[in-house]
Amino acid sequence: MSNLEMVEYLKRQGYLKSKRVESALLATDRADFTGSPYCDSPQPVARGQTISAPSVVAFMLEHLDVRSGMKVLEIGTGSGYNTALLSRLVESGKVISFEFYDEVFEVAEKNLKNFKNVEIYLGDGSAGHEKQAPYDRIIVTAAMPSLDDDHPLIRQLKHDGKLVAPVGSRYHQDIVVFDNSKKTRAKVLPVIFVPLRGKLGFTSI
Ligand code: SAH
Repeated sequence: MSNLEMVEYLKRQGYLKSKRVESALLATDRADFTGSPYCDSPQPVARGQTISAPSVVAFMLEHLDVRSGMKVLEIGTGSGYNTALLSRLVESGKVISFEFYDEVFEVAEKNLKNFKNVEIYLGDGSAGHEKQAPYDRIIVTAAMPSLDDDHPLIRQLKHDGKLVAPVGSRYHQDIVVFDNSKKTRAKVLPVIFVPLRGKLGFTSI
């Protein structure tokens, strides 16, 4: 399989819908970020962390609805694959991404060195990053135990901001799409992600 065939597969399966997300996926060879890049399954990074299956990545990005010029916060850089896609989607905008584990951070740093509109930080992103708030979009790529209306991540969204995150228990979550302008939340896909660590993550794993 090739990157192109992977993208065609994601379109056929209905995970990938828009030209914008399709172009970002075509321009980003998943082989630059992981082994066995083109099969639709999670892949290991380091420290027992895994990067999501491309179908889940595409599906979350479709719901995130990223436009050119936006400021996007990502929690869970992992391999940097999703960060690279976000970088292409924001174009003149900016991506700020947090990774908890230093070994994983080092991998991401290497993989993302040519992405000029990306800032990556080593540390706990579970309560967001107040310093550069508010954000147009926030995406969390590790499982969140809860997402209350007064959660710091929601408070760091712009009025018309959107947040996409897996929310639930340790072994079962739903991808939740939160729309700040309508104050609505929709559960769009059942998933299993690695747990979010840190202050607002899972304490025992
Ligand atoms: N989006 C990534 C996959 C991320 S896997 C990719 O495309 O490769 C989830 C990542 O979240 C893991 O690397 C994990 O170490 C990280 N993580 C977990 N808790 C975190 C926290 N509190 N802050 C920042 N990163 C966290």
